[in-house]
Amino acid sequence: MSTIDAEGWLPGALQRLSPNADERPPGTLIDLLVIHNISLPPGEFGGGWIEDLFLNRLDPHAHPYFAPIAGVRVSAHLLVRRDGELLQFVPCDRRAWHAGVSSFAGRERCNDYSIGIELEGTDDTPFTPAQYAQLARCTRLIRARHPAITPDRIAGHSEIAPGRKTDPGLAFDWGLYRQLMLSSESDG
Ligand SMILES: [Zn+2]
Repeated sequence: MSTIDAEGWLPGALQRLSPNADERPPGTLIDLLVIHNISLPPGEFGGGWIEDLFLNRLDPHAHPYFAPIAGVRVSAHLLVRRDGELLQFVPCDRRAWHAGVSSFAGRERCNDYSIGIELEGTDDTPFTPAQYAQLARCTRLIRARHPAITPDRIAGHSEIAPGRKTDPGLAFDWGLYRQLMLSSESDG
């Protein structure tokens, strides 16, 4: 069954349950999707470090960059690797800790009401076709279950935390993403 299940797990995702999540405020309507990028160490792809960070098992000694972030409690609902592989750390119904101090259309605390998707990458490295395809697929699945996430309620992290965050960055092709998202919807 190619729909999100009752707990909010996406089909085809490798499940890696992160402790960095909690309940959303009672009665919250999920009506925002936030796109991010991340790489660990920055600019290097393919290691297991992002997963380690979200599972609170990042080795602070493995790289100089890791020491100050190893104790930070963060997560995202989803991570799309460079080859399009999908990992899910938090079921969509729960609150993942991805946005930090943030505001969308005047409303603060975006974690409360959003779903966060991380793309493995950097602000200025082109994302892969496999990533766009997987992101479009995830968006279609998420919007089918959370129709309040209209196309104008899909934002970059930089948009909800301006001056503090720059991801997904200039390399992220919003036009291509929206085109793929909408065409996959019309394909059913
Ligand atoms: Zn981000």
